[in-house]
Amino acid sequence: MQSLEDIKAKIKDALPGLDCVIGWERGWSPLHGTPLFMRSPEDVDRLTWGPFNVGNPATYLTGFKGKKVGVVVKGCDSRSVVQLLQEKLVKREDVVVFGMPCEGVVDLTKVARKVGDIALVNAAVRAGGTLSVTTPEGMVEIPWEEVAADKCLSCQYPNALVSDHFAGEPLPPAMGRDPAAEQLAALEAMAPAELFAHWAKVMERCIRCYACRNACPMCVCRDHCIAQTRDPHWLTQEDSTREKLMFQMIHALHLAGRCTECGECQRSCPVDIPILALRRKLNAVVKDLFDYQAGVDPQAVPPLFTFQVEEAKINERGW
Ligand code: SF4
Ligand code: SF4
Repeated sequence: MQSLEDIKAKIKDALPGLDCVIGWERGWSPLHGTPLFMRSPEDVDRLTWGPFNVGNPATYLTGFKGKKVGVVVKGCDSRSVVQLLQEKLVKREDVVVFGMPCEGVVDLTKVARKVGDIALVNAAVRAGGTLSVTTPEGMVEIPWEEVAADKCLSCQYPNALVSDHFAGEPLPPAMGRDPAAEQLAALEAMAPAELFAHWAKVMERCIRCYACRNACPMCVCRDHCIAQTRDPHWLTQEDSTREKLMFQMIHALHLAGRCTECGECQRSCPVDIPILALRRKLNAVVKDLFDYQAGVDPQAVPPLFTFQVEEAKINERGW
């Protein structure tokens, strides 16, 4: 792929001035891309691009505070970079962004439903609208729409929104279904008691592993996270639905208007809890109130970073 070779050449040129460049390489199977931290030209040769580069490398940026790093991004990843810049969690002069146009990434849960044990897959190739997966039983050809990540079907930002180097031809926005919006609409149609019962039920299976928090590029408190801190001790480690729901409520509120809807929280959840819907709901509220969408405009000031005595769309006196 010419654009991959072009971006590799740009990374090799930039590497002497950087601590490392974060991208992806082939993981433990043909379906898995895994993070790659490039520090030498030989590392750069392992860089991959395509539907298996699922993770969001922007998540690592705040861990390199004070160092100069590069990051290879899809359009959705670039929104996280933009939001991190807006919140001054990373400095623009400390990050070099390598962008490429993204045609979508795979949802391995969907692939597993089609082919069974994905650990047995020995080849996986996407060509246009088809993902061909080879297992010991033979090859299965799956329409791309049936195994693409939900967010990719209606992706409005397939190209990096911020980049110092860009390789490849920019792509138009995707025009497919938005399953996450459909899911959110179904939840919004529930009566409050039914909705609460729904979340209480799905939260029963949360194991409080915090993978959702750790995978999130915007969740930066880490050691000081309200979910684990002992001083002050805001939440118990009790294995109760109440505490698990409380953790998710706090998590979602901390992401209100900051979440770039990269979907990494939900993807990393080992028990398939549909937590992205909570973030999307709060983002929709922020969009409605402040006409703000996270990570699309490096010059915009996030609404929760400003204060106005009277907000245009919040009627504080008319109750
Ligand atoms: S809350 Fe989830 S979707 Fe939003 S930025 Fe974090 S990982 Fe991405
Ligand atoms: S990743 Fe899933 S199981 Fe783990 S804490 Fe988050 S919601 Fe719970």
